[in-house]
Amino acid sequence: MIDRNFNGYQLSSELLKAISLLNFISPTKAQEQVIPAVLARKDIIVKSQTGSGKTAAFAIPICELVDWEQNKPQALVLTPTRELAAQVKEDMFHIGRFKRLKVAAIYGKYPFHVQEKELKQKTHVVVGTPGRLIDHIERGTIDTSNINYLVIDEADEMLNMGFIEQIETIISSLPQERVTILLSATMPQDINVLCNKIMKDPICMEIEEQHPATDRIAQERYQVDQTDKMQLLLDLTIVENPDSCMIFCNTKQTVDEVYAELVKLNYSCEKLHGGMEQRDRLSVMNEFKQGFFRYLCATDVAARGLDIEDITLVINYDIPYDRESYVHRIGRTGRVNKLGKAITFVTKEENKFLKDIHDYIGKEILLKERPEEETVRQSKQYFMAKIKTPPDIKETKGAQLSTEIMKIHVNAGKKTKMRPVDIVGTLCSIQGITAADIGIINILDVSTFVEILNNKGELVLQDLQNTPIKGRLRKVSKADR
Ligand code: AMP
Repeated sequence: MIDRNFNGYQLSSELLKAISLLNFISPTKAQEQVIPAVLARKDIIVKSQTGSGKTAAFAIPICELVDWEQNKPQALVLTPTRELAAQVKEDMFHIGRFKRLKVAAIYGKYPFHVQEKELKQKTHVVVGTPGRLIDHIERGTIDTSNINYLVIDEADEMLNMGFIEQIETIISSLPQERVTILLSATMPQDINVLCNKIMKDPICMEIEEQHPATDRIAQERYQVDQTDKMQLLLDLTIVENPDSCMIFCNTKQTVDEVYAELVKLNYSCEKLHGGMEQRDRLSVMNEFKQGFFRYLCATDVAARGLDIEDITLVINYDIPYDRESYVHRIGRTGRVNKLGKAITFVTKEENKFLKDIHDYIGKEILLKERPEEETVRQSKQYFMAKIKTPPDIKETKGAQLSTEIMKIHVNAGKKTKMRPVDIVGTLCSIQGITAADIGIINILDVSTFVEILNNKGELVLQDLQNTPIKGRLRKVSKADR
């Protein structure tokens, strides 16, 4: 019998501390099944939806099992999109924070040489998208000879995106002896075929949600002409007056148009689609997570797996043409047992897609009449009041983990042959500092960043003003986060 908390798994104190600061009180259903199986080094196939805590389900045991001492990557997580790679990296980094695990995210549209440098340093976990990972494998800039844990996340989406060959190429570069975990929301036949090829006696798990997302989310639809969609959107946002809302469109062009219109009307709004620079995509995503603006217009790049708390309303400005996308899109609201609302616009020509969605979710989406003019008029003052009030900024997920950590900057790096051992040696010579107080060390060309844990940052900072590192006094300061 497993405890309904995380103490039953015999995890290290470093992991338990991170789990507790992340406010994970008891394991989710997915975690109850996945954590012990991975700790026992079994291959597993997990059928589960996002929002079930599945990332932590594999991240916790993997972070527990990786050996800190080894320099080569030991775990590889494959994800279909760059946004998801960045998010999984963050989640694993948070869970492994006090074990001082280094986690690298490797994806396209980001400078190759920066990733190459990162991979040359000690790295425990690599999270990446297939294309860029293959580039690194082919150019010999990632060493996969020590990968003991492979995770294929959102496997059905990977196959939809045509990644099957890339996945097989990547797997052919990994050691045979490893633990493989595959997660997928659906289990089409080609996933079973893949599993048979790459796994040994896998355990299959289906994580039934107690309250499936589709039940937690109030779903409504409006029959509307294409030319009238914008007006309906405006009316509904006024009446619904959400704190945080995602508006999904089927094309980049429609996202641009809707976004431009909302900005003109002073909505607190940003946009996200695949035509944007990767850096902008990630920063929009992060700012939305922190609540810097209320409305995000997006294509399906934002529908999969992304974990944003407290989205109260999802609007499908265009009905998705793929029924699975519908579930992913509306699943951005109603996260982890919260309630949410999803509204879908349907034109006459699109009724066939609606029927397909109804078949898929096993029920009819409630048909609503558009709000009366009078209702819109009465709601307007509350809407305007909210538009004028800046949204509350949310604490980032890992903020609690960082309160006792200080990052310091040393103005010397690889060019002066600085190595981690030089840093550790000096720091451990300071009275009151042991190796357990030293977090991640990142040595760049002319700079080094070191995390000091356990509230000992000030002590180290003071001391290093007068203590030489590698034979010389260095300029040492607090680094900006
Ligand atoms: P995922 O299904 O991995 O996208 O996770 C959904 C959300 O659940 C994330 O915000 C996680 O941080 C959160 N979460 C994961 N495990 C737990 C847990 N045991 N208790 C509370 N929240 C959790």
